[in-house]
Amino acid sequence: MPVIRGHDHDLDWWASPAGDPKDVARQLDQELGRTRLRRVRGADAESTTPCAICGDRYPPHHLLANSRSAAPVCPACIFDQEQRYRTDLPYLAAQLDEVAWEDLSFPAGWDAVASVLALCCGPNLARRLEDEIGRRRGMPVLSSRWHQPLRDSWVWLPSPEDRHAAFARLGAGATLPALAEALEHHDPGLRAAAKSICREAGVRWRDTLWHVAVAYAVAFSTQAFERHRHRKPVHVVHSTGDGLSQINDPFGVRGEPMNIEGGLEAILEQLLFPLLLGHGLLDEPREPARIYGATAEDSRAPRRRTDAHVSHDTDRAAQVAVILGMVPGYKSATRIWDGPAGTMTEADALRSAAPSSDLVAELRQEMRLLLAGFLYDAHGSLQATADDAWQRLGW
Ligand SMILES: [Zn+2]
Repeated sequence: MPVIRGHDHDLDWWASPAGDPKDVARQLDQELGRTRLRRVRGADAESTTPCAICGDRYPPHHLLANSRSAAPVCPACIFDQEQRYRTDLPYLAAQLDEVAWEDLSFPAGWDAVASVLALCCGPNLARRLEDEIGRRRGMPVLSSRWHQPLRDSWVWLPSPEDRHAAFARLGAGATLPALAEALEHHDPGLRAAAKSICREAGVRWRDTLWHVAVAYAVAFSTQAFERHRHRKPVHVVHSTGDGLSQINDPFGVRGEPMNIEGGLEAILEQLLFPLLLGHGLLDEPREPARIYGATAEDSRAPRRRTDAHVSHDTDRAAQVAVILGMVPGYKSATRIWDGPAGTMTEADALRSAAPSSDLVAELRQEMRLLLAGFLYDAHGSLQATADDAWQRLGW
């Protein structure tokens, strides 16, 4: 009897050559789905590294950076507007292939990311990417999904007990045309509904958008079911709004990236997430089981504000500006600190709070930044304003 062997040691099966090939295929498929789910759930103990943007925790090698200098993030955040660097597509594509090849438990959402890039970033993408990767002395061979994106982009489905009825007849995963066909067979009006949502959102329809939206909806729903103790990745709805137009030339999205970004956001929130998950981002129910440490039996350390360090740093910088009164409309901390002395009795004796030299002015500015950062870290964005700075530490 032959052994059919995957590239993964859990995936060894014995198949009888006398058996019906359809039964063998079905068995293989079930085993693949079960093994993957076991692996994803098994990776939970290693899921300790927070995504730099949303703070959800993953095994470190499941987070990818969009370029060499960027911080690694989860698939829901790769196109987020808080990304500090533009996407270097040859770099990201090589990583996407590597993680998909080496690890059966990789987050399902990465397949959606690869699909949108492969389908939207212009003709002959695979050859152009391979040329560039070769020039950088990397391994210039990309998987077939970059060569034939519509035919070979493949997305994992949730396990049979969690999946939507439309996908009941499909295997552990499926190609984008098979997924779109299954959805439209289940609800023949679905594509027309997507078109009208796009019309209302001022987005130009193209069939590629539909396939990309299906890839996103299915892949991130699968991720929601598989990683059932983690944040549901519906925040991807807001993370598609900017990054697709931030891909370095000559690999950028062809046509108007806004049509893909806006179309994805509208179709996911209004149509496909409600269909597959029962809600979108805006009406996401609170699920304590997905919040670290929220229930008594959950021993995972609660999420800290600094976990999502890219978002935290951005918020912190903005908030420090608020605390220091550098934002129009807020009380000016500079005037308070450097102007006439306040009305307090002790302050009267000082007459003026103006710095006596440039050195003092610089030192004060340094102190202000430190104190404003301290206020933000200690009290969070809602508690710390320019008034707080004055009341708590301004004197
Ligand atoms: Zn994230």
